Amino acid sequence: MSFIADDSRDQISLPPACIDDHVVADALVRVVDAFVASLDLAELGFGRVIAAATGRPGYQPSDMLRLYIWGYLNQIRSSRHLEKTCVRDLEALWLMRRLAPDYRTIAAFRHDNPEAIVAASAAFVQFCREQGLIGGRMVALDGTKMRAVASAKNIAGAERLARDIAHTEKEIAYCLDRLDIIDETVAQGFADQPLHREGFTAAIASLRRRKDRLARRQQELERRDGKVLVFGEPEAKPMGYGRAPKTPSYNLQSVVDVESGLIVHHEVYNDANDSHLLHPMSVGTKEVLEVETLQVLTDGGYSNAEEIARCEREHIEVAAPIKRGAMNTDHVRPAQFVYDEASDTIRCPAAQTLRPSGLYTRNRAIRYRTSACTSCALKPRCTPGVQRTIHRLVDQSALDRMEARIHADPSLMTIRRCTVEHPFGTTKRMSGGGRFLTRGLKAVKAEAALSILAFNILHAVNAFRASAITQN
Ligand code: SF4
Repeated sequence: MSFIADDSRDQISLPPACIDDHVVADALVRVVDAFVASLDLAELGFGRVIAAATGRPGYQPSDMLRLYIWGYLNQIRSSRHLEKTCVRDLEALWLMRRLAPDYRTIAAFRHDNPEAIVAASAAFVQFCREQGLIGGRMVALDGTKMRAVASAKNIAGAERLARDIAHTEKEIAYCLDRLDIIDETVAQGFADQPLHREGFTAAIASLRRRKDRLARRQQELERRDGKVLVFGEPEAKPMGYGRAPKTPSYNLQSVVDVESGLIVHHEVYNDANDSHLLHPMSVGTKEVLEVETLQVLTDGGYSNAEEIARCEREHIEVAAPIKRGAMNTDHVRPAQFVYDEASDTIRCPAAQTLRPSGLYTRNRAIRYRTSACTSCALKPRCTPGVQRTIHRLVDQSALDRMEARIHADPSLMTIRRCTVEHPFGTTKRMSGGGRFLTRGLKAVKAEAALSILAFNILHAVNAFRASAITQN
């Protein structure tokens, strides 16, 4: 028995091998190359598309875009790693035709072209749409939190900053006292303690610098008029699920086409609350898909009656589980209270009529009450208060229609889960476990666009391969 024989490292092959021989015919890198070649980079807004007449020749933006898309597909996102990859990975050598830009040039491309990168990602969705890959009738919407480049230690509010400044002032006062004591002791000729003096002087200087830094942060917080601020990454916000610790993050929203599984629209927000993102995300998707009507499946976090009603007015049909939160609460079976749309009244279990009090709560709800509660036999079981109040949302009818849709087809929520959850897994894996590398909303949007473009290329190629196998 022997081992597989290898070739000598200095063996020359005939005919001489070229780089193209080392890249398989159906490699993803060829798709990236062909896709970028098909783009009109000037139209998408990339800078330096035309070479300058003077100065040192620069790299073509198409090559830099190729490198980034290929890098994100292979979980190589940092400019320093991409620089190394250009000289040691055969696919990168093939893609870049042996060009090896340095990391500063690579990073500058992503920094200088954030909007154009987002446009390139959108161009791939349009390409798939033109090829008939996207169904465009039913989509699933969801969001995920992606970590920003900042530590949780850099989150501070007005209270914490005031406490830190007061503590620093106390420390400075203590050091000044110690210096006075040392000076007194030395003046009386009892001791000479130059070492301690130097130590306290240095500590005071350091504490004063700290106090100045905290004061600057305090001013920045006041200027931005926010409750808390993430220092070093002021556009990120503390976000987290449930009682988990809140870390500086961004909220990545994605809309996935149910038929193709492609992410057709995405956006990055620096607001953790999903409940008012349903309408902008749905309308954005409708514009991308250029459709008259759209069905959007989503989860309870988006179940906001006002947003659902706004979507309905724009021919967008939403299906989401209703969150029985503060807006819809009433401690005894609200189902027993029947709303009559014609008279705008509610019939209670004691056959009394509850009428609108005319007051709107901060949740855009109307209170319905009746004075009959005081003499009602059912009152002990109905309310511990003077009278029972039913809160009905201004847009409750939209919520009721949505509930009816979900009851009519319970599989909608399963379709939502199976459609929208796994793209997050793949894009997060491509993004180092869901962490951005750049700072600022604009740069983060470019990073998200690259991750989603990489996901869409991967998914579209797999779908093409699968359909080709099925057809053969
Ligand atoms: S307490 Fe009021 S609301 Fe409740 S059943 Fe009696 S009349 Fe109706």
